[in-house]
Amino acid sequence: MAMAMEKDEIGALLARVPTQCFIGGRWREASDGATMPVGDPASGEVIAEVASGSVDDATAAVDAASAALSPFAATAPRERGEILRRAFALMIERREELAALMVLENGKTLSDARGEVTYAAEFFRWYSEEAVRNEGAITTAPAGTNRILVVHQPIGVAVLVTPWNFPAAMLTRKIGPALAAGCSVVCKPASETPLTALAIAGLLAEAGVPEGVVNVVASRHSSAFVGALLADPRVRKLSFTGSTEVGRLLLEAAARRIVNCSMELGGNAPFIVFGDADLDAAVAGAMVAKMRNGGEACTAANRFYVEASVADEFSRRFSAAMQGLKMGSGLDSETNLGPLVNEPSRDKVAELVEAALASGAEALTGGALPRGRGWFYPPTVLGGVAATSPILSEEIFGPVAPIVAFGDEAEAVELANATDLGLASYVYTADLARGLRVAEALECGMVGLNRGMVSDPAAPFGGTKQSGLGREGGHEGVAEYLEAKYIACDW
Ligand code: NAD
Repeated sequence: MAMAMEKDEIGALLARVPTQCFIGGRWREASDGATMPVGDPASGEVIAEVASGSVDDATAAVDAASAALSPFAATAPRERGEILRRAFALMIERREELAALMVLENGKTLSDARGEVTYAAEFFRWYSEEAVRNEGAITTAPAGTNRILVVHQPIGVAVLVTPWNFPAAMLTRKIGPALAAGCSVVCKPASETPLTALAIAGLLAEAGVPEGVVNVVASRHSSAFVGALLADPRVRKLSFTGSTEVGRLLLEAAARRIVNCSMELGGNAPFIVFGDADLDAAVAGAMVAKMRNGGEACTAANRFYVEASVADEFSRRFSAAMQGLKMGSGLDSETNLGPLVNEPSRDKVAELVEAALASGAEALTGGALPRGRGWFYPPTVLGGVAATSPILSEEIFGPVAPIVAFGDEAEAVELANATDLGLASYVYTADLARGLRVAEALECGMVGLNRGMVSDPAAPFGGTKQSGLGREGGHEGVAEYLEAKYIACDW
């Protein structure tokens, strides 16, 4: 094993990382002194204790964000852009340290973690550029009686709730546009991965973010903590990334005070391969779409629909590529697949596979729980999956690829759209006209056409149907933190 870090280096890294609440520019313990453990998914061992914020801490964070809001909203857009630009530079400078931290608390491989730091930092760079492009409008009213002036103002204090699967990028994808718009924020990272978020809080302070503009508090009482934030009349915005189930609860809670919501929720991405596709490219794309982040991505290909004429050949080549992956600790630089984040996640994946096998599917590779420590599940490809198998309707969130053969284009589109979710989809074909026709017919927010990856800070990321509301990234991302004000004006 070629471990990227020795034990004493890991110890030194964990000793340096902040573990308290970051409120009003200061580090402090939780008001009731409570802490919560952070585990290493590769060993199941506890690696840190982090302050677990209470409802009082939630209120203290809103106090700080609220006090910081007006002065920050009034700063020059260029100044906010420069702060974000410094944050980008610091993140790139600290890439190795942040990547190692994510491997330790999330389990992902070092190469996925390094990729994520770069991706996460790019949101700061992109929004450092967008900060100075808050455009308004002036028109003459159709009746000719007056002018219509439109300005875009920061929406106010924003609550940002993030998941564990991309501990850095899901946070910067929200903080970047919020700060560009002139909002102050209270962030609640996932309980599984608070260390990366706290490290980013420290880095933002170094970059010059004024006290109180960014507050980060982890809490093991997510429901009470976020509930208190949403009940606070000073909070005007919720941006949530996580499961559809929790998103629905938070939308209900936000409805009480009509809090503006952006929701990035679960996915169930179809990956369609037509008979004319370049199969090598399709397999390479499938490996990215399925295996980036070990399958723990909302954009992960969840269902493979392959035209019957090439289904056997695609399955053979894809299984061979999956079999070639090396599973192990993410810190081993030769590893291509780390453990799943925790035991329930691993058990859920195993149960979905067992149910599919019991209803007639065949494991072309993988399909059995390994022995030993950690929450590992092997790369798995399933052939002959029954159309009613739950593995096709639930988000797998692991390294498992069910394959179903289809007859023609209409059937492929019908199968792909037969879900309440609509985040990402993938299409492989040599016929660009067909590719675009199918892309337009798919009910989802993003399509990878002959490409296994859609995420890009410069593009609007988001879902349709029960995959969410609003967009992150691109020009659209900053609009989620701005409110249009119209001034009917006579002169
Ligand atoms: P989750 O919904 O369990 O948790 C997300 C966040 O909400 C965490 O911070 C968690 O602590 C908090 N939370 C959980 N229950 C809560 C409650 N009752 N009240 C308030 N907060 C609560 O999701 P997860 O398991 O962390 O992440 C995986 C899910 O996130 C998957 O469904 C995945 O598809 C989705 N996801 C979506 C996107 C996207 O952009 N659409 C990106 C990444 C992940």
